[in-house]
Amino acid sequence: MVFDLLIVGGGVNGCAIARDAAGRGLGVLLLEQKDLAAATSSASTKLVHGGLRYLENYEFRLVHEALAERELLLAAAPHIIHPLQFILPHERSIRPAWLVRIGLFLYDHLAGRKRIPGSTTVSLAGTPYGAPLTADHRLGFSYYDCRVDDSRLVVLEALDASERGAKIRVGAKLIGARREGAQWVASVAGADGGLEDIRARALINASGPFVSETLEHRLGLGSRKHVRLVKGSHIVTRKLYEGAHAYMLQRPDKRIVFAIPFEEDFTLVGTTDVPFLGEPGPVAIDAQETDYLIAAIDHVFRKKIDRGDIVWSYSGLRPLYDDGALEASVVTRDYAFDLDAEGGKAPALSIFGGKITTARRLAEHALETLAPFFPDMRAAWTGGAILPGGDLGPGGFDAFLGELSRAKPFLEPRLARRLAGAYGTRAWRFLERAKSMADLGADFGCGLTEAELDYLRAQEWARNAEDVLWRRSKLGLRFDAAQTRALARALTSHAAR
Ligand SMILES: Cc1cc2nc3c(=O)[nH]c(=O)nc-3n(C[C@H](O)[C@H](O)[C@H](O)COP(=O)(O)OP(=O)(O)OC[C@H]3O[C@@H](n4cnc5c(N)ncnc54)[C@H](O)[C@@H]3O)c2cc1C
Repeated sequence: MVFDLLIVGGGVNGCAIARDAAGRGLGVLLLEQKDLAAATSSASTKLVHGGLRYLENYEFRLVHEALAERELLLAAAPHIIHPLQFILPHERSIRPAWLVRIGLFLYDHLAGRKRIPGSTTVSLAGTPYGAPLTADHRLGFSYYDCRVDDSRLVVLEALDASERGAKIRVGAKLIGARREGAQWVASVAGADGGLEDIRARALINASGPFVSETLEHRLGLGSRKHVRLVKGSHIVTRKLYEGAHAYMLQRPDKRIVFAIPFEEDFTLVGTTDVPFLGEPGPVAIDAQETDYLIAAIDHVFRKKIDRGDIVWSYSGLRPLYDDGALEASVVTRDYAFDLDAEGGKAPALSIFGGKITTARRLAEHALETLAPFFPDMRAAWTGGAILPGGDLGPGGFDAFLGELSRAKPFLEPRLARRLAGAYGTRAWRFLERAKSMADLGADFGCGLTEAELDYLRAQEWARNAEDVLWRRSKLGLRFDAAQTRALARALTSHAAR
């Protein structure tokens, strides 16, 4: 069999391209060496945002595209994407109020808004917004972006791709590929270590931080474009304040740090921008980054935190397109393509940069670039399409949650919220026949039942406890060691069957 597209990388970009291409009638195979969203796409700040800060770097194209994507994504996946209010405490010594107001005016008007509210000036003194902050923070600004479950977005794209005919293979690594006539012949190592050859008419290198490694070492190609790896880390603490809003904190180095309500009981704080010169791979927060994030909180919040308050941290490598900027924090967050196809050769398209927010649009651009090689390919279609589980109905998330809670009254309110928020209408697939918790099978902890686990295994490519606890859910924040071991045992014994 010869595939039309071989996509290397199961992050947000690879999965968005697989989804779009499969829907246009192309034969797609996606390879992911570990798990979907195993690398950068599960390590983001989890925002679908225009990027207010990028306006200072004159990134108008990117901000315009990203702002427009917010509305589309919110409509496509209202179970995993929700509007989020940000409070930006005014810091006179860092940015004058007039500059912030101009930025917010542009942010409100650069792209049309339908569901997402605009910005306003707010008083912090004597209001719930100011209550957790030190007394010198009296004035602030309010604006909206969206929060997203980043790794679940990737899984939903893969699921949609697969339901439209794409083959998604996790634990499958591209070892190398060569051109033979008008095709690529790729050598792929499967989860069992065995090698097989796969043929495709075009190859997409969506390997994120590994983009240059894939280009040079696995495809044997050069490129004038380069990736710039910039590490970013987050810490998670127990909830630092009451309220559903997030804070955007300005730092003296002109960067910003977000404090965001996370998983009901926690606050997510990040991120950092640290140049990374090593080989791409797993990364972890270092002491300086930890201190930087703690200082950002301590400067603004009444409640001071220290390392003992951190319950989890995670880090990722931004695979930025190297535009030659001096500072890591101002390297463009926009994306760029490198197409290698001269002389009628089988094309290879490499992706540099991009954001969770812009992956759908990036996929459209990638397929526009490859259109000359696939004259029968159908037109773009993802702009108005719903992602799996996102068909919540006109009442949106709250109405759907109400419906689910009424239909399944045995679900604890917190569990109903988690299931509705993770799976949307797909939750019916494993809840449909249940009349009690017992019908859902053994509970591994926090309401993660056998029925849900079977669904994750069968439909969402989950293979081990880490996939389940940290990427399909964030139950890792709540599971203890014994629960994790029991879950791992259940997954291993199922795999051995
Ligand atoms: C700290 C931080 C905060 C961020 N915050 C935001 C945010 O709030 N909002 C936003 O929109 N964006 C954000 N981003 C940007 C966004 O996360 C990334 O741009 C995006 O996730 C990159 O996706 P990707 O698919 O290109 O790469 P990845 O997600 O890294 O995917 C690449 C995949 O390729 C696989 N792979 C590599 N080599 C091979 C091979 N040989 N064979 C098979 N598979 C292979 C890897 O295992 C990996 O899973 C943030 C990034 C960081 C680091």
